[in-house]
Amino acid sequence: MDTEAVRERLLKRREELRQRASEASADLRHEADPLSADFAEQVTQRENDDVLGAISNSAQVELQQVEAALRRLAAGRYTHCALCGGDIEPERLAAVPCTDRCRSCAEAGPKARGRGARS
Ligand SMILES: [Zn+2]
Repeated sequence: MDTEAVRERLLKRREELRQRASEASADLRHEADPLSADFAEQVTQRENDDVLGAISNSAQVELQQVEAALRRLAAGRYTHCALCGGDIEPERLAAVPCTDRCRSCAEAGPKARGRGARS
């Protein structure tokens, strides 16, 4: 696996997410767009804030996943499944670069955490 290419890809993604999260939170603070004195206008702005909050939250969540993936990469554990310790399929990592589990563990879902597979 070309770890350097993966690292670059993750770093680029991290920058995008940081930017998206900070833009959404700057808008949330109404730095460039103070709350209107008009009540109806305020309602629209508040609805917009809910959307911005969701964008900011999802960017933060993905940002944590990217950072965890970068740490695993640095530690040489990027391709190790966090649940079963096996190798994560290269095509799975290509599709989901931040994943920390192999396909069978991912399909088994969170219930399988810490337990052996039953089947
Ligand atoms: Zn696994």
